[in-house]
Amino acid sequence: MHIHVRNPDESPGSDPELFGRVQEGVRKHCPGMIVQFSTGGRGREQSARGAMLPLRPDMASLATGSVNFPASVYENPPDFVEGLARTMLEYDIKPEIEVFDLAMLYNAANLVKKGLLKDPPHVQFVLGIPNALPARRSVFDFLRSELEAVLPRATWVAAGVARHQWEVNQWCLEAGGHCRTGLEDNLRIGPDRLAASNAELVAKIAQACDRYDRRPATPAEARRILGLRAVH
Ligand code: ZN
Repeated sequence: MHIHVRNPDESPGSDPELFGRVQEGVRKHCPGMIVQFSTGGRGREQSARGAMLPLRPDMASLATGSVNFPASVYENPPDFVEGLARTMLEYDIKPEIEVFDLAMLYNAANLVKKGLLKDPPHVQFVLGIPNALPARRSVFDFLRSELEAVLPRATWVAAGVARHQWEVNQWCLEAGGHCRTGLEDNLRIGPDRLAASNAELVAKIAQACDRYDRRPATPAEARRILGLRAVH
């Protein structure tokens, strides 16, 4: 479960407090579920983006470079990336490396060489954001072959944004990767929207597994695959 928090009604509560409350609820109601905090921008200052890591989620996202988004720059300078990676090492949090553009993959491999990321890392390719990588099968295949070359032990997933989500899910099932789905990537109401809830999107992938001779992992299996702590 990849988590963002926000305070829509301006009620009190800092990001770390809100993340803490969500994590507590997930652990209570869905024991064993893997909790991943987003360290993404969304208007937050860089100094605030890792402020909740002392809560020790299982995982946290880590973009290993900068990229243009539809109307902004997603800024992740080298010292900031290395600082977040160090903090995640310190708290035994497994990063999900977010590859929004090609150079981020090779930078992730360099961070492994420098000892700032543990091997094997977990890598997510993000496809279909305007101004960043397109959701093209040729790009997907190239990214996978480059990952195999520079980080052969990595586990991987690809995210397709908006109308590309379901197509990329199927590429992952076919190619042996993991899947990401959710309304974060296709929130808009309209033709881009695939489902009414996150649960519906997850069920859709789970039901498709058979066609690709795959099956969903249990939480315990997923923890082993990703090399995470067994229990909280
Ligand atoms: Zn996110």
